[in-house]
Amino acid sequence: MTLQYIDNELTMHGHRLKDIAGEYGTPLFVYDETMIRQQCHRFHTALQDSGLNYTISYASKAFSAVQLFNMMAEEDMGLDVVSEGELYTALQSNVAPERIHFHGNNKTDWEILYAIESGVEYFVIDSLDEIARIDRLATKQVKAVLRINPGVEAHTHEFIQTGQEDSKFGLSIKKRLALEGVRQIEAAEHIDFMGVHFHIGSQIFESTGTVETVKLVIEWLKENDIDIQVLNIGGGFSIKYTDDDVSYPIEEGIKTITQAVQAACEAHSYPVPELSLEPGRSIVGEAGITLYEVGTIKEIPDTNYYVSIDGGMSDHIRTALYDAKYELRLVDREETHDKTMTIAGKLCESGDIIRRDIKLPASIKRGDLLAVLSTGAYHYSMSSNYNQMVKPAVVFVSESGVRPVIKRQTLAQLIQNDII
Ligand SMILES: *Cc1c(COP(=O)(O)O)cnc(C)c1O
Repeated sequence: MTLQYIDNELTMHGHRLKDIAGEYGTPLFVYDETMIRQQCHRFHTALQDSGLNYTISYASKAFSAVQLFNMMAEEDMGLDVVSEGELYTALQSNVAPERIHFHGNNKTDWEILYAIESGVEYFVIDSLDEIARIDRLATKQVKAVLRINPGVEAHTHEFIQTGQEDSKFGLSIKKRLALEGVRQIEAAEHIDFMGVHFHIGSQIFESTGTVETVKLVIEWLKENDIDIQVLNIGGGFSIKYTDDDVSYPIEEGIKTITQAVQAACEAHSYPVPELSLEPGRSIVGEAGITLYEVGTIKEIPDTNYYVSIDGGMSDHIRTALYDAKYELRLVDREETHDKTMTIAGKLCESGDIIRRDIKLPASIKRGDLLAVLSTGAYHYSMSSNYNQMVKPAVVFVSESGVRPVIKRQTLAQLIQNDII
């Protein structure tokens, strides 16, 4: 992240954040465009170095915006979508439909028809019932991979695990549902079976879980004589929110995983498939920050020191949802972080907190700007209109300038669907 104090003010690529906030208003999401592109490059280079055939799809749920998707098209990335709304947004961008994958554990008939009509590359089928439905609804051949549940737990926060046996996602290998799914897809008249998919969790910081899963899956494919073209290993690569986290070591991790794929295929005399990845958070997470203006400060003697900002859980839900931790910076001046305080939102919930017990400069006062770091993934996309808060604007910053990407919502938009 090219965040830097210049002349005692916080800047991104040399642009003063205070000026950007002045122009677009707060709360404001600011992305380092160069960093997003770099993350794409890092995945591409690591996969190219492996010599495997591969594709990368950006998991659009992390942050969905037409200009971002256009950038993904420029960076040779496909897109993953899970709803008609995500597909609609993706189709407004320059990403070719045949680079879009349709996911989801409960696709509606309408979504299936819409995806077929749009010409998406493939469905990621997530249940037995979906196989029969796609086969019935399809009037031409469609491609699909099957999401399997390998029953592997990734080392991550328990609320965001998906790899365990009791999961709404995928079909269990151990309970033989995965094999049943493969056989049904192979037998379906209108579906071409392309391969298998797994996603064992999010914020995974090392490759052991993925490597174990790869071994188990290749062995299972070989044992059951299942031929695949594509092995999709999902996303979930970690980012750094605070010093307690690590950014997934992309170069080293992808090398370990691709070597494990090659080794497992060799050990089982199984043809090496094309590898697909679906990073979301690791593409946009560390590249984004949120700017807020400080308002009321409340000191409760011997108890807490609350600094409230002009947004909250409507644009920052992860602290309330996962007890996630964030780093902050004072935008207006560089000073020692010498006072413990709690940064709170302005919404009507006690749990509306950005960060509890964090050391920041004691001089923080009404009107100052605070930057919350690593908010590029699952912040704007999880934002809501709770308390009739308007959704913030989004801008991209690079060496060449600042460009608006999403406008701030208007008050009129808050009631545009009300029947009055
Ligand atoms: C959420 C998700 C991803 C992306 O996860 P990140 O942690 O953002 O990388 C990829 N694939 C699937 C199936 C997902 O559900």
